[in-house]
Amino acid sequence: MRSPLVVGNWKMNGTLVEVSSLAGAIAKELKKKPSKASLVLAPPATALVQLNQKIRRSEISLAAQNCHWQDSGAFTGEVSPLMLRDIGCMYVIVGHSERRHIFHETDEMIAKKLVAAIRNKLRPILCVGETLAEREDGLATKVITRQLRIALKQLARNDIRNVEVAYEPIWAIGTGHNAEPKQITEIHGRIRRFLADSFGQSNAKRVRVLYGGSVKPENSNDLAKTSEVDGLLVGGASLKAETFIPVIRCFDSHG
Ligand code: PEP
Repeated sequence: MRSPLVVGNWKMNGTLVEVSSLAGAIAKELKKKPSKASLVLAPPATALVQLNQKIRRSEISLAAQNCHWQDSGAFTGEVSPLMLRDIGCMYVIVGHSERRHIFHETDEMIAKKLVAAIRNKLRPILCVGETLAEREDGLATKVITRQLRIALKQLARNDIRNVEVAYEPIWAIGTGHNAEPKQITEIHGRIRRFLADSFGQSNAKRVRVLYGGSVKPENSNDLAKTSEVDGLLVGGASLKAETFIPVIRCFDSHG
């Protein structure tokens, strides 16, 4: 029922030429041999318009890495979900740990962004995850439940069908150390139970729960096979075609 999804988060990396060449290499490869996984690319905001032109005729979808919660107004430096939809985005990443920790985004701000994204027919990819200290203190589930509860509290029951949730333990992001399959299955199971309790079983069943944190070709097959993993959110390894393509293909051999 849930088809696999792979998201490449390019963060603040790449000039137009670099982004275009990377997207071109990936699109060419997938045209030659399509993948079972749907692919979403989240380039820097400067490249969204150009990339939309480039991938328009492909199966690849476009995501923004962030958005504001208002459609317009005096918010210098911000980009609205209305504007993102206008330039061809289908998805928007919301609540990435770098936004939470470096830019001090709160759960309440993230909740407003989710509502705004859905109002503008964007699919939010909601990131949740605990710090190392929180995991060591046995607080991982508590933290993630709080993040979900606040972020999703304003959504109507059916709205959850348009959301992807990404479990991204902060201690695994960019560190080279991914979470163990057992840890991932446990947290993803908790996320699914939270969604079922809050939005009903049949709505919850449709939500893809992705894993993110040091995904690379060496671990992606095991991660794709991990129970409760519906897809992957990939940072560093998505920046090169030779490391990203094997990750995208990890869902092709099973399922
Ligand atoms: C991320 O930042 O969302 C991420 C998963 O990064 P990395 O794959 O580099 O750990």
